[in-house]
Amino acid sequence: MSRQTVPDTEPHPYSAEPRSAPETRQLRLSGARLGNSLTVRRALPQARRRMVGTWCLLDHFGPMDVCAGRGMDVGPHPHMGLQTVTWLFKGELLHRNSLGYQQIIRPGQLNIMTAGQGIAHSEETPAGHSGCLHGVQMWIALPRSCRHGSADFEHLDSVPSLRIDDAMATVLVGSLCDGTASAASVHSPLLAADIRLPAEGAATLPLDPGFEHALLPVYGDTLLHDGIWLREEQFWDLGMGADRIALSSPRGSRLLLVGGEPFDEKLQLWWNFVAADREEIVRARADWEAGRRFGKVSNYRGERLPAPPLAELPGAGSSAKR
Ligand code: MN
Repeated sequence: MSRQTVPDTEPHPYSAEPRSAPETRQLRLSGARLGNSLTVRRALPQARRRMVGTWCLLDHFGPMDVCAGRGMDVGPHPHMGLQTVTWLFKGELLHRNSLGYQQIIRPGQLNIMTAGQGIAHSEETPAGHSGCLHGVQMWIALPRSCRHGSADFEHLDSVPSLRIDDAMATVLVGSLCDGTASAASVHSPLLAADIRLPAEGAATLPLDPGFEHALLPVYGDTLLHDGIWLREEQFWDLGMGADRIALSSPRGSRLLLVGGEPFDEKLQLWWNFVAADREEIVRARADWEAGRRFGKVSNYRGERLPAPPLAELPGAGSSAKR
């Protein structure tokens, strides 16, 4: 079951006994409203796990019938101090941002937007859609060293996949232990991978034991380490120190694996902003409300989103640190 390039007797990177995530625990998903029309299942942040590495938000949306509703329609809104990563399992989205990009994304492609000190964007189901939408959007907190850098946007037409035992693993962001790496620009050691198992398939994936990891089942049931069933509508925290995960699936399944080095900087996450402290957030909110800093999203037919009231901003002393 181990990968062919790493013999079972090889002590590195594996330990003699698999370290199989002793802290594995199931967490909840909560419902969150996105823009005008969409309810998502939010895995991060939550009270029991604020972040996994630098991953500070993880939303799962769909699969949904876009013909029956409006699909996604999130008007122009600002971001600061983070990167957004969009990955679709089905359907398409139209991304516009204040750098002037207008980009449709489809399954197999990756959008990664770096907010730095400020960017604005909109996301919507485009005209001429396929009728279905299913995907994830994730945020990466930028480390202090680049949190105030310039904004950027990358659309990758493809990201690398590799077969591990029966599984196909697609590396969205970061790299797997064998070095298979996404070209997406990131600023901390981290990983996001889309893992597909065929019916009656099994695979042992090597993990970086210096990372904390989590698994989001996308569809189908998956057995972890012959003992824990990972099912749809769940989110699993694997904690730190696991050097591999053994997965199998009776009828086929798909999972999102996220991981990263523990992030120890103090930070606050409020609305669409990641910042070191309340003052940065207060300034960013004022700049958005005054039409400063974040630029303008062109050609979106609708209103930009107003910032929530400051009353919802926690006072000094509370932080988003896990
Ligand atoms: Mn956004």
